[in-house]
Amino acid sequence: MIIKSVNLETVCGITSKLPENEFSEFAFAGKSNVGKSSLINGLISRKAYARTSAEPGKTQTINYYKVEYREKSQKEIEAQGLDASYAQEKSVYFVDLPGYGFAKVSMETKEKWGKMIESYLHTSKPLKGVFLLVDIRHKPSANDCQMFDWMVNSGFSPVVIATKLDKIKRSQLSARVKEIRSTLGMKSSEVLIPFSAETKQGREEIWAYIDSKNKE
Ligand code: GDP
Repeated sequence: MIIKSVNLETVCGITSKLPENEFSEFAFAGKSNVGKSSLINGLISRKAYARTSAEPGKTQTINYYKVEYREKSQKEIEAQGLDASYAQEKSVYFVDLPGYGFAKVSMETKEKWGKMIESYLHTSKPLKGVFLLVDIRHKPSANDCQMFDWMVNSGFSPVVIATKLDKIKRSQLSARVKEIRSTLGMKSSEVLIPFSAETKQGREEIWAYIDSKNKE
């Protein structure tokens, strides 16, 4: 996927009203440190556009990145004799939900954030797809399971992204995927995509999913 432009358009705090966007939204949720910023930066081909969570729990916001993209470059279209429609510019919003699972945050704050995420999932009309990130090396936590259930209960078929793929051996992959699927209670029709921010493995598959849902 070719990225034309990226713009952090809206930042929402706990009391902010959520924006009414005209383009499809795709939301990213996951425990802090799971690799959410790295994934977003990988998808938008920027080194450090999405913030990495340096100060856990400090500035918890919902960030809306408007992303303009096209499927193929002019060069690829000419070289591969493709239809000109591949060059069509399209727009989506990446919605970066606050990372959860900070030990230091009070129960009250956790609950407020939980409510805000849940309400976003329930009410956003342009929301076309939700991604739940889990570290491929670890068994999903109770918070991960709760987030997965919120997504399902909001009517979505969550796509699980298993991050930090480069940190495991190839031989471990199928056992890791199996444990993540069974812990979250994923149906066989639900998709899990392993991703590495180092090698970018998984990037095109995630984009193909986003683009297909953006067409619906
Ligand atoms: P966030 O808190 O979920 O936004 O997580 P970050 O994107 O800031 O990543 C947390 C840490 O994990 C950072 O030190 C990243 O460099 C590292 N990290 C994230 N993704 C990957 C990955 O795919 N491979 C490896 N090896 N490290 C990663």
